[in-house]
Amino acid sequence: MILVVGGAGYIGSHLVKELVEKQEVVVLDNLSTGFKDSVDSRAVFILGDLGDEEDLEAVFSAYPIKAVMHFAANSLVGESVKDPLKYYQNNVAATLTLLKVMLKYNVKNFIFSSTAATYGIPSVDIIEENTPTNPINPYGESKLMVERILENFSSAYGLNYVVLRYFNAAGAHVSGKIGEKHDPETHLIPIILQHLLGQRDQISVFGDDYDTPDGTCIRDYIHVTDLAEAHILALTSLLDGKNKTATYNLGNGQGYSVKEVIDMCEKVTGKNANVVISERRPGDPARLVASSERINKELGWKARRNLKEIIKTAWEFHKHN
Ligand code: UDP
Repeated sequence: MILVVGGAGYIGSHLVKELVEKQEVVVLDNLSTGFKDSVDSRAVFILGDLGDEEDLEAVFSAYPIKAVMHFAANSLVGESVKDPLKYYQNNVAATLTLLKVMLKYNVKNFIFSSTAATYGIPSVDIIEENTPTNPINPYGESKLMVERILENFSSAYGLNYVVLRYFNAAGAHVSGKIGEKHDPETHLIPIILQHLLGQRDQISVFGDDYDTPDGTCIRDYIHVTDLAEAHILALTSLLDGKNKTATYNLGNGQGYSVKEVIDMCEKVTGKNANVVISERRPGDPARLVASSERINKELGWKARRNLKEIIKTAWEFHKHN
């Protein structure tokens, strides 16, 4: 059985939908940001907190867990700058509790959701896994801390792990039933689509004076189902002993500026956006684009869905939710 912590959240729920086809799955989630009805009904759902040893003990003693996939983190850069305690508590301290209980039950396979924010402001155009990490916000720091903890736990306790550094997760499940819904919403694509549905007056572009061709920030948007597929390959690589420790970027390898994303949303939806330029948002690097060559070579993964498909699936989801 595979334990998915945070399986009711945006990325976790998409992973669970794919994983239940192959494995028995138990989801632990405190529903702080996730939704129970996003969890595939074939998975066992347990309401609980990964920072709570008793909740964890209850799961590990009841189910024969052979691997843990950890999606339960806070993930907003701006919020992490304002409230770093929350980020170190929930993303680092709670993860330590999870690892402690895993080791107690001799569960030694771990898949960890990390982030492009570990790189900070990269000095290269295309980021590889050995590009130096230097986070510029507590969110990125909290994820990098866990990565270091995993290295140490691997040496000391024989923990096997795969770290997956996501770039900009976006899009929705092809069924249109699950997708990105945060409250409050801060992510670019859902904000644009909400505006195009008449739920917001305008879109604010956070800065158009960056050192990029059109002056707006460039990001590497990756479809959430592509992410889910990468997790399954990573899990298989641990379970069949191919990987003991690995770190992979997950991106499309292609960057799109904020303006280009808005243009594509207009094209897909056939609607016009009301765009205003506002101040830069603190903590935003100008450009974050991944090389995913390593996971392509080692596990055969490749992003299969482009920006248009990301926006099409997100649009289907937003229209009905
Ligand atoms: N962005 C923007 N307006 C918004 C939300 C986001 O201009 O209302 C920009 C943001 O500054 C960044 C890009 O869109 O350059 C992607 O931001 P998002 O919050 O979606 O993801 P992040 O890159 O922070 O993980």
